[in-house]
Amino acid sequence: MLGSSRSLSGEATELALTSAPPKPSYTYARSHRILEIGGLAVSAALTVVTAVLAVRASPEGGIWFAALACFAGLCLADLMSGLVHWSADTYGSPTMPIFGGFVRTFREHHADQADITRHDFIETNGDVCIFSSPVHLTLLLWVENAFALFLVLGVFIGSYFNSQIHKWAHAAEPPWLVRAGQRTRVLLSPGHHSRHHSGAHLTHYCITTGWMNRVLDGVGFFRKLEWLLLKLGLRRTTPSA
Ligand SMILES: [Zn+2]
Ligand SMILES: [Zn+2]
Repeated sequence: MLGSSRSLSGEATELALTSAPPKPSYTYARSHRILEIGGLAVSAALTVVTAVLAVRASPEGGIWFAALACFAGLCLADLMSGLVHWSADTYGSPTMPIFGGFVRTFREHHADQADITRHDFIETNGDVCIFSSPVHLTLLLWVENAFALFLVLGVFIGSYFNSQIHKWAHAAEPPWLVRAGQRTRVLLSPGHHSRHHSGAHLTHYCITTGWMNRVLDGVGFFRKLEWLLLKLGLRRTTPSA
């Protein structure tokens, strides 16, 4: 069919189609895109190195020991995701220097929850890898204990996948394996995360597994932290109710 309607303008169109550079799927600087890809590669390499070091340092028959340490690491990653999320939702402004972009990402997510689902894998996960991998590398330079290495493994697996898991919680049709993880609460489920987005965004800040939300919200952890910071002179910049 294409051949039957061949013409001068058709040839020009074909030439344009073959010679035009592919349209990037992202809308930010190419230099940052390269940095994101580098961050993802370094994070993947560090995760493999940590797993190898942890297995080598593990005592004979230490499978439960390793599972416990990884579980503790995932809980820690969930807690850290909550602290980071809460700080961006509560303090500062999108126009502030240095951290403005970070704050804007979380505030805009409240206004347009589906936007995160339009980001590709690199855009979704690149930034968290750029910021987390130097900390991971630093820890690997001095941690030798097997339990601590499995803990680090759990923390960084949770942290590197944090944005991806959050994206899946907003996705209309995540992969079946992810849906199984959400149903069994291994991963943050859409129903659980929707509690953060209903109302004034004052609870359910943890967005990796969501395991820590019940504990933290149950004891009023974030309100108490805000009270403490207010005593130190730091006032929240978003409404508290
Ligand atoms: Zn939020
Ligand atoms: Zn969300």
